[in-house]
Amino acid sequence: KFSTAAAIEEPIKPPIKVEHTQLLIDGKFVDAATGKTFPTLDPRTGDVISHVAEGDHEDVDRAVAAARKAFDRGPWPKMTAYERQRILLRAADLFEKHNDDLAALETWDNGKPYEQSAQIEIPMLVRLFRYYAGWADKIHGLTVPADGPYHVQTLHEPIGVAGQIIPWNFPLVMFAWKVGPALACGNTIVLKTAEQTPLSALYASKLLHEAGLPPGVLNIISGFGPTAGAAIASHMDIDKLAFTGSTETGKIVLELAARSNLKPVTLELGGKSPFIVCEDADVDEAVELAHFALFFNQGQCCCAGSRTFVHERVYDEFIEKAKARALKRAVGDPFKGGIEQGPQIDSEQFQKILKYIRSGVESGATLETGGDRFGNSGFYIQPTVFSNVKDDMLIAKEEIFGPVQSILKFKDLDDVIQRANNTHYGLAAGVFTKNINTANTLTRALRAGTVWVNCFDTFDAAIPFGGYKMSGQGREKGEYSLKNYLQVKAVVTSLKNPAW
Ligand code: ADP
Repeated sequence: KFSTAAAIEEPIKPPIKVEHTQLLIDGKFVDAATGKTFPTLDPRTGDVISHVAEGDHEDVDRAVAAARKAFDRGPWPKMTAYERQRILLRAADLFEKHNDDLAALETWDNGKPYEQSAQIEIPMLVRLFRYYAGWADKIHGLTVPADGPYHVQTLHEPIGVAGQIIPWNFPLVMFAWKVGPALACGNTIVLKTAEQTPLSALYASKLLHEAGLPPGVLNIISGFGPTAGAAIASHMDIDKLAFTGSTETGKIVLELAARSNLKPVTLELGGKSPFIVCEDADVDEAVELAHFALFFNQGQCCCAGSRTFVHERVYDEFIEKAKARALKRAVGDPFKGGIEQGPQIDSEQFQKILKYIRSGVESGATLETGGDRFGNSGFYIQPTVFSNVKDDMLIAKEEIFGPVQSILKFKDLDDVIQRANNTHYGLAAGVFTKNINTANTLTRALRAGTVWVNCFDTFDAAIPFGGYKMSGQGREKGEYSLKNYLQVKAVVTSLKNPAW
């Protein structure tokens, strides 16, 4: 569990040189067709890290043509499953070998603490690739006992060219959630990174090619949503779309997919997840876990425990301790040791979070601590805690995506179940209790794709993740994710001699 980072020896690895800033199409790094570039910024300062090729429609067309060729004429789907597995395993080894460089690049472009990148996220990228490599040769169909003189079997085949659009909050982990299962199942890919964090996926993709991935199988487009992203979602020659981002954009891409070629879509969208502290809870432990559930990754998690419901019997003690914990949170340069919180991703998110904080104050919630920017440069925000939050306040209803904890008081289980479920979202929920009956009641009653009991943000590769309601469609990770990238063909063969 990442909560209080162990202090590590200074100095932490400084930012590496950026090697890859072009688009990756058909196994080659190339400029955008328009020649345009855009800057990617260091969230610690707002300074330019480097200029990156800006992909648009024409580049997406080129990437789709390469992916189409790699799918239709091979080699990817025509390789044996064992050969594909070995490439994915070699890639995982290379990611592991380049752990520190990948971590430095991720922290530089995203602002998350280096220790988090190096000790949690790159190891998770490695774990995800090994997990999906393991699936590559375990995907198979059935024989079906149909009524009649037929031999019936099902083939589980890759869908074709997958379009994938990912966000900026966990760039490489999101890359692995998308690329891992698609490749294991034999699909080829056109993936668009988020415009805020284009760098690490280019580096990881280069390593995948070093591991033996054939050209055209994985194409990476850096660029913006309404241009490159929309070109992917509406492309007539992309067979499947997987998207992670806001609910608002999820609706747009679903519509683009439907209006173009009806490609199947999986969506992983926003959330307003409850974290429920029951009356029997050990308050110190509950405070620590609730703090982690909200503040992890600068609060930039779709599943953040952003409505902290606390039982009225422990409420006052909880508030006091939650405030003390937030005050202790180590905010600062993410490349320094012992830092728990770096800057927010960009000025847009920074401004949006400050606006939500103002709205919390104006609507009458009690600002216990924080409430303003941290320092006077970059996109840092003070760890902020609101108590006395009411269900109808904006800060209790909308996704803030920042280090702002909203604490609400509840009376009993019926009360908290009804209120926790009273949202259009349904991504995750946290339950903190020692009572098995309370845990069982809540895990069954909460309408969310994940319920964490006495833990939070446990993200193993084998555990499925996805949303109820407007938090998404479909599941990623685990065995469940394979069906997003497979289609089933029934093969029915007439038997000449049914007696045998
Ligand atoms: P956020 O608000 O967190 O940046 P978005 O949903 O806007 O979330 O972004 C997630 C991903 O979706 C990014 O890669 C972004 O470029 C992309 N995106 C944004 N708008 C569109 C769009 N109209 N069509 C396709 N992709 C989009």
